[in-house]
Amino acid sequence: MLIDTHAHLNFEDYNIDREKVIKRCQIKEMAVINVGAQLETSMLAVRLAENHHNMYAAVGLHPIHVFDEEFDYYDFRAIINNKVVAVGETGFDYYHLTFNRGCAQELLTSEVIAEQKRVFLEHIRLAKEKDLALICHGRNGLEKRNAYNDILEILVAEKVERAVIHCFGGDVATAREIVKRGYYLGIDGPVTFTKKAEELQRVVKEMPLDHLLIETDCPFLAPEPHRGKRNEPIYVEYVAEKIAELKGISKAEVIEQTWQNAKYLFRL
Ligand SMILES: [Zn+2]
Repeated sequence: MLIDTHAHLNFEDYNIDREKVIKRCQIKEMAVINVGAQLETSMLAVRLAENHHNMYAAVGLHPIHVFDEEFDYYDFRAIINNKVVAVGETGFDYYHLTFNRGCAQELLTSEVIAEQKRVFLEHIRLAKEKDLALICHGRNGLEKRNAYNDILEILVAEKVERAVIHCFGGDVATAREIVKRGYYLGIDGPVTFTKKAEELQRVVKEMPLDHLLIETDCPFLAPEPHRGKRNEPIYVEYVAEKIAELKGISKAEVIEQTWQNAKYLFRL
């Protein structure tokens, strides 16, 4: 079964036509995991999962929002039900450091990173308590700091067993370390781009298919041929198609194996 393991149909970008977008997913008979970025969008992800077949949810506070909202462990814990399959997205974002709403502009970079780390550790605690997978977000941007390595270091130190590094944008060496530790790599629309996609395409070619997941991160990062427009879960098929092309296998095989991977990681 086709599955988009990282979507945000819970975001306001879909307020005018959410049910139509969901209908297109149902016609394709695909599964979708909607991921929360704050408490409110986490609650909406849970509601979408409750009301729709083949939809699941993840709850968490995105690292770019750690100064917009206090991570309340008990509030997040309270909304977890049997359609919630992961905690996240959580991790390190070194790109949006100066763009947080609220007070982050006045803070030192080191303080922002320290807060992202504190909140990340809280997510790990919640995932362990509820026996859920962890969806990690990493983004580089700060000189000499590799968000993916920083995430990996914590996952290993905290002995996290089930995790995906979603929308992977690191290099082959980092990808290799992630896979070696048994974690998964989320592959998104940028793999289809014609420019600046060489490293990601190399990652896909070299990493084993049984450690890859396919995602859209919609409404962002629409793959070719929809680049620049609003993304939606059905477009995850273009990601599968590109992976198939890069690996010289069939699209059906990519769809089947990434479904098995998702089933295993998220216990669907
Ligand atoms: Zn996301």
